[in-house]
Amino acid sequence: MTFNDPEFGEVIIRKSAWATNPKFSVSTSGKLTISGPKHTTVFLAKRWLNASRKQIREKLPLKDPATQRARDAQKKILAKKAKDYLPYRLDFWAEKYGYHYSSLRLSHANTRWGSRSSSGTISLNIGLMKVPEPLRDYVILHELAHINHMDHSAEFWAEVEEHDPHYKRHRKLLKSYSPGV
Ligand SMILES: [Zn+2]
Repeated sequence: MTFNDPEFGEVIIRKSAWATNPKFSVSTSGKLTISGPKHTTVFLAKRWLNASRKQIREKLPLKDPATQRARDAQKKILAKKAKDYLPYRLDFWAEKYGYHYSSLRLSHANTRWGSRSSSGTISLNIGLMKVPEPLRDYVILHELAHINHMDHSAEFWAEVEEHDPHYKRHRKLLKSYSPGV
């Protein structure tokens, strides 16, 4: 649940069975988050917010709504680019090296570039659209190699190297980028 506040922009409401009193925090995207008990409504959340407006303003490291809006817009653009590109790039490499995966999920995680689940789903972060192509390809080839090796064993890295001979450099360069938008 979300609502718009003239001062804080989009406000997120989280409900929990265990919460008793409303708590104010900042989401990873910099938005004001109100955590309250199960019966929390937008009406109640607005009332709590108005009663604590001054403390929130002084104590919480919130992003201003304009910054939030810019970030949301950037995320939308990246998600669109990722949708138009990553499925085809993944297919390209999978076909080239004979890998089979069950599905692709585009993720918005803040900390991971990609992952592979035991059910065979490959996740790729939309933030990959911000990094140079060789680094993007490295992440794809890394996740594909996990189809044959579930760990980061020497055999796993040998397979990555076979498909991306400069993987060590790519891996190092990737550290200077952050997956989060
Ligand atoms: Zn890995």
